[in-house]
Amino acid sequence: MEPEGDNRLLQDVLTRADNETCADCGNPEPDWASLTLGVFVCQACSLLHRSIPHISRVKSVQDTWDASDVELMAAMGNNVAKAKYEQKVPAFYYRPKHTDCKLLREQWIRAKYERNEFEFIEKQEPYSAGYREGFLWKRGRDNGQFLSRKFILSEREGALKYFNKHDARDPKAVMKIETLNATFQPAKIGNPCGLQITYLKDNSTRNIFVYHSDAKEMVDWFNAIRAARFHYLQVAYPGASDEELVPKLTRNFMREGFMEKTGPKHTEGFKKRWFTMDDRRLMYFKDPTPTPAAKYSSAVRRTVTPSCLACHRPFKVTTGTMASPSSRLTGSSCLPARLRLSNETGSRPFRGSSIAR
Ligand SMILES: [Zn+2]
Repeated sequence: MEPEGDNRLLQDVLTRADNETCADCGNPEPDWASLTLGVFVCQACSLLHRSIPHISRVKSVQDTWDASDVELMAAMGNNVAKAKYEQKVPAFYYRPKHTDCKLLREQWIRAKYERNEFEFIEKQEPYSAGYREGFLWKRGRDNGQFLSRKFILSEREGALKYFNKHDARDPKAVMKIETLNATFQPAKIGNPCGLQITYLKDNSTRNIFVYHSDAKEMVDWFNAIRAARFHYLQVAYPGASDEELVPKLTRNFMREGFMEKTGPKHTEGFKKRWFTMDDRRLMYFKDPTPTPAAKYSSAVRRTVTPSCLACHRPFKVTTGTMASPSSRLTGSSCLPARLRLSNETGSRPFRGSSIAR
């Protein structure tokens, strides 16, 4: 058969409903394929498949294809592969989207095809056991240096705790699973595995920034937190379905980036702060400023007008009396809204994720 004819046949396989989106991130119109796994993937995911060459051999659908390879793809495809590689994905397990950080997408691909975690339930123990203990690098409050700290996540106790000394009996902080959120912030934290953990203490929002040098370990921590939240919510809302609970496990921030703010007296100068819009709460972070973002400080100077998308009235950002890093937005009746920022050197969009719900 002519190569052209085989490629026409390949196009037929590609237009099959299950092959219209990437097998790994759901991005539409995948234009790469893994010949060894029988899946169609987007270009970004094909690059991650290249990092596991002993498992996956990728090829562009624009290339010339042999008849035997086309037949294989016709026999497999994304649905058949999903039935095999995703047969036992726990409901709480985070399935990354195209917009998620590389760490989440790569570990999802490795968990599926390299470690076969969703074919063998015993391989899921690091995040499904209800208890996890280990060391994470945690950013210090004062000097911004990362220090090794012991963390314990316990579903039974309903908390994530960390300890300042390895042999300490009392934890430095107890973060209730009920109010816990975790979201990957690699650019902000300055590490590809950087995770921001948010929790409530005495009704105010607290944040800690952690990472693990091993990518799998960090994603396991993230999914262990999601598992703990899932089981907590199952008890708290006994009638709710998995579909209702899963979007509540963790959330990404709606908007974030640098703005400059002044205090309530109008006599202070503007100071640069990292702002985060999380659900209906606007937070800002004092020093230490996030490491990578600090690089922009000399190049880009911004004046700030956070304003309501609906009414275009500027929001008033005031200095709260609470300790860093939280402050409430005043006059927030129009929320949720977007922050608008103008800067003198052209607009640089807020970095970070769009919201995932
Ligand atoms: Zn993809």
